[in-house]
Amino acid sequence: MKSLVLEKKDDLSLRDFPEIDRQEEILGPRDVRIKLHTVGICGSDVHYYTHGRIGPFVIEEPMILGHEGAGTVIETGAEVTGLSIGDRVCMEPGVPDPNSRAARLGIYNVDPAVRFWATPPVHGILRPTCVHPEAFTFKLPDNVSFAEGAMVEPLAVGVHAATKARVKPGDIGVVMGAGPIGLVTALSALAAGCARIYVSDLAEKKLEIAQSLNPAIIPVNIANDDLVARVMKDTDGWGADVVWEATGSPKAAATVFEPLAPGGCVVMIGGQAEPISYDAGAAMIREARVENIFRYAHVFPRCVAMLSSGAIDIKPLITRTFDFGDSVEAFEVAASAPPADVKMQIILPQ
Ligand SMILES: [Zn+2]
Repeated sequence: MKSLVLEKKDDLSLRDFPEIDRQEEILGPRDVRIKLHTVGICGSDVHYYTHGRIGPFVIEEPMILGHEGAGTVIETGAEVTGLSIGDRVCMEPGVPDPNSRAARLGIYNVDPAVRFWATPPVHGILRPTCVHPEAFTFKLPDNVSFAEGAMVEPLAVGVHAATKARVKPGDIGVVMGAGPIGLVTALSALAAGCARIYVSDLAEKKLEIAQSLNPAIIPVNIANDDLVARVMKDTDGWGADVVWEATGSPKAAATVFEPLAPGGCVVMIGGQAEPISYDAGAAMIREARVENIFRYAHVFPRCVAMLSSGAIDIKPLITRTFDFGDSVEAFEVAASAPPADVKMQIILPQ
């Protein structure tokens, strides 16, 4: 029973991990045991590998990576009623304390006590099996593959970001950043009713992928094009109804209000390591509404439903697949940030 273990910064190994086997012996009455099938590599996993930390979360002990997973239920707790052995499922990786104040308010994703896979000291799921609460495990319809199921986690960020923006049919949107989160945000915004989405980035390859996803996505390479001028020209000088910041770059964040229409909304998605500044005056004259998101809440069933109905096609974002035995190599490739790749996934032996 090998796991992919981040021993410390820059040091990964595929090895036995007896501690997790002991921890997972217990199956609570409302838990299910899942045999993992597909696990996506997230930017956060790669960041822990290359930097050993994300903000206040520091790798101090060996930790198993991975939090974007799909698999099959192989055992159910005594009080589980909604899932059965053999069900194909995807899992929401953050489990809050159900009695916490945040959970009772319905904002469980900002519960300070949330336990989130592959965030120290909580282990991730690049391992053969895991135990997870039924309440955070979602059945996949027959027409949603394991690969798509493992994309529900990143897609959930985009759906949460579109929800927070309160998109209306026909809205014009801008998504800054054509990485995986920018692209799932663009797809979610279109599914929510946006008429057009301008996606900006510096990487031509990523913009080509963005454009290939949907004819309503307009790529803007800010290396040689002016995003604000383009949006203003196409909207008769009015601007975009929603701007999603999905780069995490302070430089991009400083400009979020420039393409925004009066009364529009800016959603900050990209994580910022340090305090940043933005143009409060530009926000004021537009009466801009600014939203922040932290992961997601209550959106996994919506994501699964949209993948099943065809409202969102996530498959083009999966650009490379590795066998579990090659996981260390997979992370080396991911850390090199190949420009033509969006999401890489690892398939576990069944
Ligand atoms: Zn992720």
